[in-house]
Amino acid sequence: MSHPSSSPQPIVGVLGGGQLGMMLGRAGAGIGVEVRFYDPVPEACAAAVGPVTQAGWDDEAALTRFAEGLAVATWEFENVPVAAPRHLANRVGVAPPVGALEVAQDRLPEKECFRALGIPTPVFHAISIESDVELATECVRFPAILKTRRLGYDGKGQAVVRDHADLGLAWQRLGRVPCIVEQFVPFDGEVSLLAVRSAAGEIAFYPLVENRHAGGILRVSRAPARRGALQQLAEDHGRRLLAHLDYVGVLAIEFFVVGNELVANEMAPRVHNSGHWTIEGSATSQFENHLRAVLGWPLGSTAMAGHAAMLNLIGALPNGVESWSEEPGVHVHLYGKQPRAGRKLGHVTVVGDELRVVDDIAQRLQAAIDAATPSEISTPGARHLKLNS
Ligand code: AMP
Repeated sequence: MSHPSSSPQPIVGVLGGGQLGMMLGRAGAGIGVEVRFYDPVPEACAAAVGPVTQAGWDDEAALTRFAEGLAVATWEFENVPVAAPRHLANRVGVAPPVGALEVAQDRLPEKECFRALGIPTPVFHAISIESDVELATECVRFPAILKTRRLGYDGKGQAVVRDHADLGLAWQRLGRVPCIVEQFVPFDGEVSLLAVRSAAGEIAFYPLVENRHAGGILRVSRAPARRGALQQLAEDHGRRLLAHLDYVGVLAIEFFVVGNELVANEMAPRVHNSGHWTIEGSATSQFENHLRAVLGWPLGSTAMAGHAAMLNLIGALPNGVESWSEEPGVHVHLYGKQPRAGRKLGHVTVVGDELRVVDDIAQRLQAAIDAATPSEISTPGARHLKLNS
């Protein structure tokens, strides 16, 4: 790990070159940190802000070359095979710990970790072989959600199931891969906590974020959540996770709100979509703080003034979206990606002192976004929508 005084231009290597990487790169430029990327796909959008090594996750020679000159390596892509950061870790510091990535990549150890730490999580049961379908039916009430243990994101690899027969069929449809089935939580809302811990053990939290998903994909985030009383509880859970994982960097934890309780759904050991508003809405963005943390620098302030709403642009861009930034408080981010159903193409953040003003603008822009993306309802996982909203 290097310190600003020992290296004026430290280089951070990021596994993954998507929009999260792009925003890490922009944050790095603002604090004199060079950010380089590693991604197997040719069209990595982070290429707009830094060099990209295009090579496979299993290309050890390319990973070794990538490690040269780095102060530290990290990732922005959660499903990076852990062998890649482990390979880097033999050559250069890697943060967060690879063990945290390993836990978060598999829903079973992830949920077991929540449970072991006393963090409420939905009742769940692992499904690995046929007989587990029977056993699961005895302990998980319906409706329930069947989820693949690995490689599920944005509602992919999931199915809502209503009874035992449905569960068996859904498991067949998901290819009989290792899954968990978890009880459907009739939640009052969804929130996420963005926590950050530096290499020196300094911890900071952003205000709790209120999230709305549709079709399993995040659509809207608002901060601070209008459930501020839950901040302390969320931070208690966050502190336990950070300590248990010996964590360094930004960690996002997603919760269901049930009355005055928080039920942990999942965690992401990386910068997170529900923290995009921090670019304009907080004294220090999640991206800058992640870089600071992994470099061993002191953290920046996570204070926010006023209110923020973040709207994702998914599948298609509304006409004239580029000009929305003309309105005070509106910030448009476009990722330069080819439009495709269900794909995150950009986001818009609205910031302001007054909640009512931020809400009014966000609602107007959301209507324009919805008009541009009528087919979104058919994205995988949309069956949740009927139950959730
Ligand atoms: P996930 O991929 O686990 O983050 O799930 C995506 C979204 O599906 C969540 O943000 C919720 O809106 C919904 N969802 C997932 N699991 C559950 C559950 N056990 N009960 C109710 N809704 C859920």
